[in-house]
Amino acid sequence: MAELSGKLYLVSTGPGNENYLTPRALAAIAEAEVVVGYKTYLNLVKDMLGDKEIIGSGMRQELERCGTACKLAMDGKKVALISSGDVGIYGMAGPAYEVLLHSGWTPQSGIEVEVIPGVTALSACASLAGAPLTHDFCAISLSDLMTPWSVIEKRLIAAAKADFVIALYNPKSGKRTQQIIEAQKIFLSCRNPLTPVAVVNAAYREKEQLTLTNIADMNNQKIGMQTTLIVGNSQTFIKANTMITPRGYTDKYDIDEAVKLS
Ligand code: SAH
Repeated sequence: MAELSGKLYLVSTGPGNENYLTPRALAAIAEAEVVVGYKTYLNLVKDMLGDKEIIGSGMRQELERCGTACKLAMDGKKVALISSGDVGIYGMAGPAYEVLLHSGWTPQSGIEVEVIPGVTALSACASLAGAPLTHDFCAISLSDLMTPWSVIEKRLIAAAKADFVIALYNPKSGKRTQQIIEAQKIFLSCRNPLTPVAVVNAAYREKEQLTLTNIADMNNQKIGMQTTLIVGNSQTFIKANTMITPRGYTDKYDIDEAVKLS
């Protein structure tokens, strides 16, 4: 039977700069007796860790870390499981709930669980590029480690055809280099090759880098584990080094009128 004094905070730490960590996330970390997370993200809050119990580990042990955090909380500890960006977006919130449910947890009978939202890579990266997400968009992860490539490919084609702005998470790693090339081919088959693309590396981190380019050129840029790409739709444009997707399709609203009124 679960020890009900335990609590599990699933904490978002934002893109990697303390200015984008929410007060609620900081309060949860302050309250926690145990903090569990990947080393790089623990570093971001290192000044707050004091004499708390810390469980850090490398990238590959993500699920193990998640299981440990859940178990400690069910044993009665206040635990903060921290994750970069938003913990619920390609993060640990899903696996954490799965582990809890698997052990018989329900919201009524089990320990308290709180998901604390945060600034995800796509909004962080969009803010650096300008305003590329002001119309319908979707996010697609190119990682086929846990998702079959056929599923990812189907989504890329559907999103490209439907004229969504597309944010690509996990575009490339040392070993996974082909997916972004396949994605580019799909975009080229249904969009103008000069459609704007933002390639954003390490947003709000020390090595932050923004490149505004286009579909034809996107794969000539530095792309790695800390990169998110934002591929524009048919209306997206770059002007004054700023990538913008208008709020509506151009024949539906009149910027001249808005300028006159201001
Ligand atoms: N939960 C995270 C996403 C984890 S998936 C979030 O909400 O942001 C990891 C992928 O996120 C990376 O491969 C990269 O595509 C993207 N990413 C995470 N942090 C980033 C940053 N600071 N700058 C650019 N992309 C980032």
